Amino acid sequence: MKAVVAAAVAVLLSAQAAPSTVLIKAARVIDGQSDRVIAPGAILVRDDQIVQVGSAIASPQDARVIDLGDATITPGLIDLHTHLTDREDLHWEDVLVKTTPGQAALAGARNARVTLLAGFTTCRDMGPTWPYVDVDLRGAIDSGMVPGPRLAVAGNYVSATGGAGDARQFSIYVDVPIVQNLADSADEVVKAVRTNFKHGADFIKILVTGAVLSKGLPPGAQQYSEEEIRAAVTEARRWGREVAAHAHGIDGIKAAIRAGVRTVDHGSYLDDEAVGMLKSARSTFFVPTLYTTAAIDETGADRGIPAAEIERSRQIRQVKESAFRRALAAGVPIGFGTDAAVIPHGRNAREFGERVRLGESPMRAIQSATRINAEILGWSDRIGTLEPGKLADIIAVSGNPLSDISAMERVRFVMKGGQIHRLEGTGF
Ligand SMILES: [Zn+2]
Repeated sequence: MKAVVAAAVAVLLSAQAAPSTVLIKAARVIDGQSDRVIAPGAILVRDDQIVQVGSAIASPQDARVIDLGDATITPGLIDLHTHLTDREDLHWEDVLVKTTPGQAALAGARNARVTLLAGFTTCRDMGPTWPYVDVDLRGAIDSGMVPGPRLAVAGNYVSATGGAGDARQFSIYVDVPIVQNLADSADEVVKAVRTNFKHGADFIKILVTGAVLSKGLPPGAQQYSEEEIRAAVTEARRWGREVAAHAHGIDGIKAAIRAGVRTVDHGSYLDDEAVGMLKSARSTFFVPTLYTTAAIDETGADRGIPAAEIERSRQIRQVKESAFRRALAAGVPIGFGTDAAVIPHGRNAREFGERVRLGESPMRAIQSATRINAEILGWSDRIGTLEPGKLADIIAVSGNPLSDISAMERVRFVMKGGQIHRLEGTGF
């Protein structure tokens, strides 16, 4: 027993006080950039940066050597659509009347850690229900107070009154005046964008159509005009920032692409014309969230999702899957997102299996969650590939994901910015 405790303490110490030079070896390296597999593979890390990637790297005298055996090293994974401060067991429309921002912050700390240990070293967080809790979570992670992915945060997502992001699904005699995320004209949208950036948001999330998990209009219905979306994009660009659009219905998708949003998230009803628009725009990307359907089907009822919303999810399954196949066939770059907490936090890598099942090659799926996502975020200079000079965001999974994509769910090693957070399945 004592020996076990001593071993656990040793792991904890090594996780906190990593030596400045680390040589990581494994059976394979996928670098996120090229289609080649380096086998065997090795990566040399000094402080927070990658120094060398190759097959045979001589170990410097001062290096700590970590040999992961039959594992595959990839860049740290990126999820472009999370809600880290949301809980899986509570419908988001109940959050304002049944919980506190403090609870959301604590849940966020827990979920950030779980997500990091699942190999996701960066997330674009699409917003809390209690505004700006994600800004505080980002600050706590950046300062080292709690472990978690690098975050880009939405702050306070922008919705039409009665729209997909209007959480006030309760009696008209009840209000939560502190929460102000509704905007109903181009002018109000501009005000909402400025308020978001004033309070620390990195980008704007705008809900341009109905949603699956909502009592409002169905997912196919458009809720913001092109003019209103364009107002958000124009103002965000003045701040040097981008807009992410929640969009299921095709009219909303096209309005969002024409208005110049960075991402069309979910994109369930994407048609050939919209794919053509993405192809020629080149600056707008499709971020599907495919595993949500199975997750809602399997666990939705236990998690308090109303039957009508589970039915909404089932109804768009086919259309969602053909949207993904359509984008894949057209060869447009596709981003990678999950919508956790709609799926359980920490199971983000299940999305890989859905994508491969629908025809994407494992290599393309891994590149989507690494290099392409980094490009979409505008963070390619720092993360997304394993190259000298990039931040040492490195993970390893057991076995070979190119022959069995579920390997992406068996994470053995997580390093973020040179700091080891997981080694051989042992977390903090
Ligand atoms: Zn979402």
